[in-house]
Amino acid sequence: MTLLQISSFACGEWVAPDANARPIESAITGEVIARAGTASLDTAAMLAHARKIGGPALRKLTFHDRARMLKALATFLNAQKQALYDLSFNTGATQADNAIDIDGGIGTMFVFAAKGRREMPDVHVYLDGAPEQLSRGGSFVGQHIYTPLLGVAVHINAFNFPVWGMLEKLAPALLAGVPCIVKPATASCYVAEACVRLMLESGILPPGALQLVSGGLGDMLDRLEAQDIVAFTGSAQTALSLRSNPHILRNSIRFTAEQDSLNASILGPDATPGTPEFDLFVKEVQREMTAKAGQKCTAIRRIIAPEAQVHAVIEALCARLRKVQIGDPRLETTRMGALISAAQRRDVLAKAALIGSEAERVFGNPDAFEVQGADAAKGAFVPPMLFHCANPDSAIHVHGTEAFGPVSTIMGYSDLDHAITLANKGGGSLVASVITNDPATARHLALGAAAWHGRLYFNNRTSMAESTGHGAPLPHMVHGGPGRAGGGEELGGIRGVLHYMQRTAIQGSPDILTAIMGQWVPGAAEILAPAHPFTKPFGALHIGETLHTAPRTVTLEDIEHFAAFTGDTFYAHMNEEAAAANPFFPGRVAHGYLLLSFAAGLFVEPNIGPVLANTGLDALRFLKPVQPGDSIKVRLTVKAKTRRNDDYGEVRWHVTLTNQSGEAVAEYELLTMNSL
Ligand code: NAP
Repeated sequence: MTLLQISSFACGEWVAPDANARPIESAITGEVIARAGTASLDTAAMLAHARKIGGPALRKLTFHDRARMLKALATFLNAQKQALYDLSFNTGATQADNAIDIDGGIGTMFVFAAKGRREMPDVHVYLDGAPEQLSRGGSFVGQHIYTPLLGVAVHINAFNFPVWGMLEKLAPALLAGVPCIVKPATASCYVAEACVRLMLESGILPPGALQLVSGGLGDMLDRLEAQDIVAFTGSAQTALSLRSNPHILRNSIRFTAEQDSLNASILGPDATPGTPEFDLFVKEVQREMTAKAGQKCTAIRRIIAPEAQVHAVIEALCARLRKVQIGDPRLETTRMGALISAAQRRDVLAKAALIGSEAERVFGNPDAFEVQGADAAKGAFVPPMLFHCANPDSAIHVHGTEAFGPVSTIMGYSDLDHAITLANKGGGSLVASVITNDPATARHLALGAAAWHGRLYFNNRTSMAESTGHGAPLPHMVHGGPGRAGGGEELGGIRGVLHYMQRTAIQGSPDILTAIMGQWVPGAAEILAPAHPFTKPFGALHIGETLHTAPRTVTLEDIEHFAAFTGDTFYAHMNEEAAAANPFFPGRVAHGYLLLSFAAGLFVEPNIGPVLANTGLDALRFLKPVQPGDSIKVRLTVKAKTRRNDDYGEVRWHVTLTNQSGEAVAEYELLTMNSL
């Protein structure tokens, strides 16, 4: 096999490894298969390239432009993923592991593409919450906004998921509009490099948006500035040494860390042998111990079961672990491949020995196990190892040592508070799971443990067919955890994008805020055009364009007619005495839905035109009762516009209904789909 030369991509050029390159070995054979690393990388030029070329090009695009870019990128990678699978087997990953890493990474990018289009505006500013009225007259208002950081994101990734680990950081950063320099872990950087090559060759990304460092990062961290951000995934030890860099501390450079974690899974007291939950628990634990040979930051390291069930769990788990075929990951019958390297194997065995000083090994002998299709002496193979800790309250290593391989420890708990104490002894984790069919148990554990864990995963007979698994971080949900887990947070839908942006409080007049936000703020100027706004196509409508309707008097006959027609004969509309006795009404009042219907009748333009459909109402509030004899009229203003595709766009209208005294009686936002 020819040695793979793993390059970096700096300032628009591929830079081959030089004499200082590090060798990279196959997880299966132990042979050197690649080399990576370039001492001569000009880190200052790379950062300048990202800041001066990549950043401005990305920031010129709107959120929707960038979301479309992500979708194109994910579609492109999806069509080319076989090349990544072929390389990834060398890391010890089975095809099932590749699905987590490669398909999972591409899927994450698709989710951010979809969320960017659905949940972010088609402009350059993201709004945080609603405007705040800061003055009595409404001439001075406030709004929190997010804009992209003006620097560069440096992504330092762990070896275990070379594709997912890269794409789950890249997707939110690019959606935010921040250029990235990716530094994969050297041990599996040949897979990440191939993925970066595909993304660059696709021609979808603007120049400077993505650069790659294969091998050491050199002095890059010492050259960062306050608008830059470091997102790190790896061991607690490396995180500590990098985040305590005085340059990073001095300049308040954002540093987010996803690091190791002693994740726990708790079996509920109700989940006794014979229940679907007991079987589910054993299955999940076995899967989490052996997927990716246990090299998952979310793997279950501590199994917490009721004392009475510990031996039943050990027995059932051992029966499943016995069936896990270890070997060459390319073979279809292999269920667990190898660790990434011989060094990782040594590390896992050393850590397992530490755990073994406090717990008895009840499954898996690293000196005697079967490997199919590969030489166990040359590859980085280990068997799954299960330990039983009889004294979990006094154990230290069981709760504090992460053996980053297929190693897990079972321990018993006496009651739910004891289970909480044990789960929280990990000092902060990415995820803890609870398998129970008892909502009260779930609530008790959530209140006692949520603060120590970034994610709580509950599963039972109802959700098990569709649940995504204890170990799967989802792009929709936050990934990260307190304390030991690094204190960082990634993903979580649009929350993950905001980590790459600055939140700023904006204060000023409604007109100033409207201009900055790209959304009409109540109190800002209204644009009164002679033509009815419903006659204008999407592109011709202006933010702030307003229609004032003629008034309409609401009569008692209207109310009775509406009540009879709809069947809504609630007493407040029909019974004067009962309505007057109600603290909210002066007497009989009009139905809120009648007012909405009259409003639609007042502002409608009945002819065929650019308005295709009314797609909904948001934030509806009835502010003041309307009595028979009152007269209402409507103000309809274009608040925001979002183009949906090449044919139509959504218009968000601010609607206010007022009475004859000018008092607001109802307010809402109306959504219409308009042709372009
Ligand atoms: P690691 O040894 O800490 O390395 C992590 C990354 O840091 C690698 O890219 C490494 O590059 C880089 N690095 C090391 N020293 C550096 C330095 N002085 N300057 C700049 N970069 C440096 O961790 P790993 O062995 O790759 O990964 C295993 C660990 O990651 C486990 O503890 C696991 O729990 C954790 N992990 C956590 C998550 C999560 O989401 N929380 C996910 C996956 C893994 P080189 O490879 O070139 O040294």
